[in-house]
Parts: sequence; C-alpha cells; structure tokens
Amino acid sequence: MGRKFFVGGNWKCNGTADQVDKIVKILNEGQVPSPDVVEVVVSPPYVFLPVVKSQLRSEFHVAAQNCWVKKGGAFTGEVSAEMLVNLGIPWVILGHSERRSLLGESSEFVGDKVAYALSQGLKVIACVGETLEQRESGSTMDVVSAQTKAIAERIKDWTNVVIAYEPVWAIGTGKVATPAQAQDVHAFLRDWLKTNVSPEVAESTRIIYGGSVTAANSKELAGQTDVDGFLVGGASLKPEFIDIISSAT
Ligand code: PGA
Repeated sequence: MGRKFFVGGNWKCNGTADQVDKIVKILNEGQVPSPDVVEVVVSPPYVFLPVVKSQLRSEFHVAAQNCWVKKGGAFTGEVSAEMLVNLGIPWVILGHSERRSLLGESSEFVGDKVAYALSQGLKVIACVGETLEQRESGSTMDVVSAQTKAIAERIKDWTNVVIAYEPVWAIGTGKVATPAQAQDVHAFLRDWLKTNVSPEVAESTRIIYGGSVTAANSKELAGQTDVDGFLVGGASLKPEFIDIISSAT
C-alpha cells in the first residue's frame, strides 16, 4: 500500500475562541478528498484542543503542538503525553524548529520526547530542518540526518511517526523551498531511513514538507515523488487550507 497523503495544520500560538469557531466552520464545510486519500490533522493551542476535537468533522483529527518528555508530575506549565491520551488527542507535533530555537530543545531531548510520546500511544509529527546558515554552508543533509538519528536511536517502531522536513529559512517567511529543493532533502531522508533503519520503514514513513506552503505552491510540491504531504502554518488559519488539502489529488 502506498503512503497516504498527510496534511497537518499548525496553528501555533494563534487564535481567540471566536477565531477558532470560524476556522472550525471553514474546515467542516470545506470540500476535500476522501479520508482514504488524505489524512488531515489540525493542531490548535492546548487550550482549544477539546473544543476543536469535539466540533471538528469526524474524519479530521487533532494534534497537540508539544508534550512533556516523561510521565507528568511536578513540571509546572507542562502537559503530559498521558493527559493527551486521556482526552483522546491522537497526535502530537514534536521538535518544531520554534521550540528548538526559542526554547532550546536539543535533538536528544526531542528524541526522548518522541520515544516517550510513542510509548504512551500517541502518533508523532517529528520536525527536522536546517537554518539558512546551515544551508548556505552546505550542511543541510548533516543537520537533518543528525536530527533524525537522535530519533532513530530511541525508537523501534516507526508506524506512528510522520517526519516533517521544515527548512527554518522557509518557515513563516514566504520563502518556500523549490519543489526540487524539497524533493532533494526528502529523497535524502528516505535513503537515510533505508540505510539506517530499514527499507520497509523508508518505504512506509510519510515525509511531509513545511515552510510557507500555500494554495499557490502546494500542487507542485505535492507532485514530488518523496513529498507525502505538508505541515502548514500561516495558511492553515485561512480558507486556502482546504485547497492545500485538496492538492493530495
Ligand atoms: P508556515 O509554518 O507555513 O507559516 O511557514 C510552517 C510551520 O512552522 O509548521
């Protein structure tokens, strides 16, 4: 069976209750391909997760934007994987570059989080990606493989993992990677998985692209062999998210 196209909407730290209602309405009314063709997962801030989950059409799912690295307890301000599971939240985004850079999350810490979240039954969107300096110095592949390795060393089962390749220079900047640039890194990551994990995992793991994806560029990116979907930030808050979902077909 082929890899099912995956479209995630990362709302980041955005939204009021009214805005959330509006976005949910757009999602619920939008014409999109069948869930056999595309898996759609939106990721509101924690406080809106229960309301979005309860109001969203049943074929769309929700993700948290983060969770704690181990069992909950005396960790003020954190939310545990167990809590997400308890509320029926199936997915979590881990290792987003904003958390890596603004909150100092190392690749090892992200790897530990991925392993713990999976052990509790969550599905994980694990983000990797290079900065502009790293791309310009020619170390893109070293960076993304080191970030992926820190995950691969800590997990055995990749069934519930989606890798999001998000070049930091393309996030929120309007500067999208060209389809060829995205394809290059996706093919590299798939090959890395083949060599370092297994051919089966390389074949079945979805590798999605994130970084200034819009309705205007999603179709061409989606046409790349190793691009299995998107993680969308800014445009996931707008009606065009429906068009991005539809680029699956
Ligand atoms: P963007 O964000 O689509 O606004 O560039 C993508 C992301 O950070 O996941």
